[in-house]
Amino acid sequence: MLASTGYGATSADEPLSKMDFQRRDPKPDDVQIDILYCGVCHSDLHTARNEWGNTVYPVVPGHEIVGRVTAVGNQVSRFKEGDLVGVGCLVDSCQHCSACGEGLEQYCENGFVGTYNGEEMHTGGMTYGGYASNIVVRDKFVLRIPDNLDPAGAAPLLCAGITTYSPLRQWQVGPGQKVGIVGLGGLGHMGIKLAHAMGAHVVLFTTSPGKREDAKRLGADEVVVSKNASEMTAHNNSFDFIVNTVAAPHSLDAFLELLKRDGTMTLVGAPSSPHPSPQVFNLIMKRRRLAGSLIGGIAETQEMLDFCGERGIVSDIEMIRIQDINTAYERMLKSDVKYRFVIDMASLKQEG
Ligand code: NAP
Ligand code: ZN
Repeated sequence: MLASTGYGATSADEPLSKMDFQRRDPKPDDVQIDILYCGVCHSDLHTARNEWGNTVYPVVPGHEIVGRVTAVGNQVSRFKEGDLVGVGCLVDSCQHCSACGEGLEQYCENGFVGTYNGEEMHTGGMTYGGYASNIVVRDKFVLRIPDNLDPAGAAPLLCAGITTYSPLRQWQVGPGQKVGIVGLGGLGHMGIKLAHAMGAHVVLFTTSPGKREDAKRLGADEVVVSKNASEMTAHNNSFDFIVNTVAAPHSLDAFLELLKRDGTMTLVGAPSSPHPSPQVFNLIMKRRRLAGSLIGGIAETQEMLDFCGERGIVSDIEMIRIQDINTAYERMLKSDVKYRFVIDMASLKQEG
């Protein structure tokens, strides 16, 4: 087994703390990576605190990983020692169901293996994520980070980037379309940048009036404070597509009313308790659709990284030390982050 050190939670109500654990011995098709940076996703917090009810402790969160390859198995030809690589939310899948066959490993019919809190296919134990010194990942699930991107700023692309890119592509967002992004957090700020880069007219919906100027700087054409009813109704029946990233239950009707006939709102935010059921009439009267989307497959994640490489798109980050992860979680809950915390993993070697 390979020794690893990281930060994890031992129960839902304990803060994250330093822990030593084991990775599997690298296999012939594995890539061994020293982790440089790891983004802090709201899903990490949901999982550390068992808000989705499926956490197996101890859990080491982190699925926005950028690092350097330190070794490869003898069947690996795509990567070599020294390469700058990324690992997102997936580290394995069955590879033979119809979803995997279409490159949609996130919808693997036999269950994908999550980067953390997933069932390890080889050891029978659990997977541990990127708040750690190193990781061992099957080569098919390792991504290339474009050379021109800042490695720390690229880390959040591995989850926040692909989770917004995938639905924008699936619903064919482009010039001439009016697209809404709900919530300006980690996912939302990537949603603005990507939808803007795809040529759409982008409107940001926020509960935080203080984020107006930032949203415009990030690429929003308009900003709506969603608590302000008149600002909302001014946009009735006008959106082609809305991506909703909000991490807490809220009324979906307020946004469904803004969709045009045949418009779609796709939920990517994953609150621990359900949204109130939307009014059926808001859907049937204009054939509107309410949808969901889960991260993205490996090929699409590489496509997104290359798209960002060509345009110089990275996340706006605040770098933290791993020792400050519990404070970062509290700040994330208060929407006090611009717009993604990224852990500098060199801090693991520092004391307290
Ligand atoms: P985040 O950085 O905390 O951002 C969430 C944003 O939602 C906040 O910045 C805030 O934006 C808004 N918000 C928070 N509480 C709210 C409330 N009570 N009412 C209205 N708006 C509220 O979180 P994130 O990392 O972007 O993740 C967002 C959600 O997506 C989480 O639930 C996460 O688990 C989920 N997720 C899903 C996938 C997927 O594949 N579907 C992938 C990754 C993450 P404003 O201040 O602008 O209102
Ligand atoms: Zn995530």
